[in-house]
Amino acid sequence: MSRSGKDEHGGYSRKEFLKRLSMGFGAAMAFPGYSSIRRLAEYRRLSNLPELPDDKKLNYALVGLGYYATNLLAPALQETKLCKLNGIVTGTPSKAVRWKEKYGIPDKNIYNYDNYDQIANNPDIDVIYIVLPNSMHAEYTIRGAEAGKHMISEKPMATSVEDAQAMVDACKKNNRKFSVGYRLHFEPHNKRMMELGQKEMFGPVQSIKGGNGFHIADDPTKWRLDKQMAGGGPLMDMGIYVVQGAIYTLGKLPLSVTARTEVNHPKKFDEVEENIYWKMEFPDGVVADCESSYARGMSYIRANARDGYFKLEPAFGYGGLKGETSKGPMNLPNVNQQALQMDAFADCIMNDRESRVPGIMGLRDVKILMAIYEAANKGERVKLDLNPETLDKVEDWS
Ligand code: NAD
Repeated sequence: MSRSGKDEHGGYSRKEFLKRLSMGFGAAMAFPGYSSIRRLAEYRRLSNLPELPDDKKLNYALVGLGYYATNLLAPALQETKLCKLNGIVTGTPSKAVRWKEKYGIPDKNIYNYDNYDQIANNPDIDVIYIVLPNSMHAEYTIRGAEAGKHMISEKPMATSVEDAQAMVDACKKNNRKFSVGYRLHFEPHNKRMMELGQKEMFGPVQSIKGGNGFHIADDPTKWRLDKQMAGGGPLMDMGIYVVQGAIYTLGKLPLSVTARTEVNHPKKFDEVEENIYWKMEFPDGVVADCESSYARGMSYIRANARDGYFKLEPAFGYGGLKGETSKGPMNLPNVNQQALQMDAFADCIMNDRESRVPGIMGLRDVKILMAIYEAANKGERVKLDLNPETLDKVEDWS
């Protein structure tokens, strides 16, 4: 599909599109408990989206063929209804061969990091998705936008506020849509948290508690333990989901943060934190008490409201999420989050709308992450002044 893409929506209206999407979810709810392997097939079978013919789909190119691109995004692209995996950018020729064979990617759509900018001359790539280590997101997003492509950057969007701002500016200057790889805004359990919290269905939320972490291997070559490449430790990688979860559950922005870090294995964690604990202070005295770790596995968020509670555990993974309220279990489906996220972005491009998870939201979150580190380093409360347009408000969902 061409860059202009507008009005080509496979012959169905946006209203019909959304109706079918919600029908899909409804159908999925009739099949609770299916395995995570089958989950991959469920989005396609249950979403009920009319599939666009290949020549009407948006063509995606993935940049950085590591774990997430290989195991999650490429398979998810096979399930989308509006997107097609049609290009790759890799520095490893053997990967190019494997991907070409597996996904039928034409030679002319295979790039390396040196000739990446030539993608500007390729009308068969519409969207570029950056899946590189955190510190590389900025350069490759800016170069992609300059090449005239719509952009998705993985989270965290950047390792500094300056880089994040430059990414937003480059996409704006080139009139390109820009989204962050925030998959949970499209995921049924997390969407329910947003509804319950923002609509005050258990009364106003009075406090939030959340955590996300895993035990990272000892491999010293891993970029996640390298401050320059990762920008920080578990906060950048996993804690960002807790920051997000607190904000979208409340539908409000934090006014200030306090934080402390903890290192129990200084040899391994000589550059980034091992554990981090932080509090986000919201209007009306609401506090989110948060933690993230590269030493312990955890994935939870709980909102305590005036008339009850609601929570997810696991909350932030790719599947197997479970929710409960003080009235009982949520019984929601686990669907392919990445397929939902990428189809949602394609829909925005086709209909000239902004993403629900735009670059300015990623910029906001980088500001919060940096404030949390500043609070931990100084041992002081750090105030925030954030853009309210970055909120994903349930009332704006169409
Ligand atoms: P990874 O290490 O498995 O993959 C990184 C890729 O970048 C590799 O293919 C590597 O070859 C390539 N690369 C190019 N230049 C490099 C360099 N100088 N140093 C190191 N690698 C280089 O990492 P990953 O787990 O796939 O994560 C990639 C990005 O995706 C990160 O920003 C991460 O935060 C994000 N991610 C997001 C999710 C999510 O749920 N949204 C999940 C996992 C990862």
